[in-house]
Amino acid sequence: MLEKNHDVWFSEYYMDDDVKLSLKIDEILHVEQSPFQKIHIFRNETFGVFMVLDGYTQVTEKDEFVYHDMIIHPAMAVNPDAKRVLIIGAGDGGTAREVSRYNTIETIDMVEIDEAVVRACQKYMPSTASILDKEPRLNLMFRDGLEFVHNAPDNSYDIILVDSTDPAGPGEGLFTTAFYNDCFRILSEDGILINQHEGAFFEGDIEEMKKAHAKIKKTFPIAKVFGFTTPTYASGYWFFGFASKKLDPITDHKPERWEAFGLKTRYYNSDLHKGAFALSNHVKEILASVL
Ligand code: SAM
Repeated sequence: MLEKNHDVWFSEYYMDDDVKLSLKIDEILHVEQSPFQKIHIFRNETFGVFMVLDGYTQVTEKDEFVYHDMIIHPAMAVNPDAKRVLIIGAGDGGTAREVSRYNTIETIDMVEIDEAVVRACQKYMPSTASILDKEPRLNLMFRDGLEFVHNAPDNSYDIILVDSTDPAGPGEGLFTTAFYNDCFRILSEDGILINQHEGAFFEGDIEEMKKAHAKIKKTFPIAKVFGFTTPTYASGYWFFGFASKKLDPITDHKPERWEAFGLKTRYYNSDLHKGAFALSNHVKEILASVL
């Protein structure tokens, strides 16, 4: 074991006192207690600037491209005609940045509960957040996503992206049946919901994955899960849910239509699309255990 003295490290604990991931803090850029959560922004030599909310890593400059590719591109490869997108959470701006690359998308509504996250990211993470004050199609609102979807009219979005914190603190309501029911109601017939679906390795994440899947399965006729590898999320293998009224992510996948957008991506491609929905046996078992 290597001990280095005088170093300051950030650790995210995956299993109470038993397993953690640590990044050395080379610089403390921002510390703030907002009305919703504790915000830290640090810099690490290898991962660049990274943001932590209530002790959980949200985004790092080095690996954010994986998460932000996977939150929108698979959905656009299934419903390339989507015009109206709703983003919930996502205060670092990475999701809005990727969505805004589609010229065919006409409106991007973004509902983030915590203005302090946006302001801090605009200052310290321009690679994700600079889009937030320069995209004319973006309508950024500082509100609770749960309340927003409850009051939104029927059939008002083609894609909903839930880029939230974990199901504790302000993000809790975004993992409830009431929320998923409202998402179903406000989506168009070809609509797709992509949501944070947690991990499949550590006990707490597995429980949350099961709970989310059980609720979404009851709400949407099509409820699938897809994975991606990202070093700074617990176990390095993390998931999104794909839920829709009728479009299936594999049989309705339109690779030629997606390729015609001409987007250069670092993680997502049409082969990977199929692979992401191919789940390991242990993940299949976790999902099958949910009624
Ligand atoms: N990619 C990240 C991850 O999964 O670790 C998520 C990043 S993004 C910063 C998460 C955002 O969700 C936070 O800024 C938080 O303020 C926002 N959020 C949490 N609960 C919310 C709610 N009820 N309505 C809107 N935004 C919410």
